[in-house]
Amino acid sequence: MSSSPATGAGQARGLLFIVSAPSGAGKTTLVERLVEQLPHLRMSRSYTSRAARQGETDGVDYNFVTRDRFETMAAAGEFLEWADVFGNLYGTCAADTDSMLMAGEDVVLVIDVQGARKVRARGLQTQAVFVMPPSFAVLEQRLRGRSKDSEAAIQMRLQVSRQEVAAFTEYDFVVVNDELSAAVDRLRGVVVSERARLARMQAEAETIVRTF
Ligand code: ADP
Ligand code: 5GP
Repeated sequence: MSSSPATGAGQARGLLFIVSAPSGAGKTTLVERLVEQLPHLRMSRSYTSRAARQGETDGVDYNFVTRDRFETMAAAGEFLEWADVFGNLYGTCAADTDSMLMAGEDVVLVIDVQGARKVRARGLQTQAVFVMPPSFAVLEQRLRGRSKDSEAAIQMRLQVSRQEVAAFTEYDFVVVNDELSAAVDRLRGVVVSERARLARMQAEAETIVRTF
């Protein structure tokens, strides 16, 4: 199979991207748009003990599990990382992530700041993107506009967002999610540039060089 910066993938192990942002900043929307546009880019499906919101489907938006089941999986070491976010447990399945990467797919983990720290602490090579809302006021509007959380949940998310945005310096890239399609373009630029790095392209380039 061939690979190129535009199409990605191939036989090499895939790249691991992390996208974090305060809840409501639009990270899920951005990443969903991007995976529709770029072949060989997959969004990881997390496990969570949170109840499904209206319109969310088990096995699509998340793998919804009981807290007991989540804790059993965590104790068995099945998560690459997991965290307590707003009182619910969220985690990335290590086996699912690894099988996509082994198949040469690039994987995006849409996880919170704590989860991103845990992935990095494992020594994994990642390209981490912080999605910044244009302002606190816009974040509040988006959380309310999504109208899927209770007022108490919105207040908690807004309060936590103040610590989360302060962590942006821990990331490799910052994408401000102002106008949606422009923000998707910038995020795509990050993925496409990473796919063009020497380490990623070396094998294909050497194959070409051997034709000379
Ligand atoms: P997150 O995954 O970060 O919690 P979502 O992707 O659920 O956020 O987006 C929160 C809300 O903001 C949704 O209603 C979504 O449609 C909206 N949204 C996302 N990006 C933009 C944007 N660039 N402009 C306007 N609304 C946006
Ligand atoms: P929500 O309940 O709005 O879907 O998500 C709440 C928060 O949990 C978001 O910040 C989201 O990024 C984070 N999150 C979702 N899945 C995971 C995961 O697998 N691990 C971690 N650490 N955070 C996650």
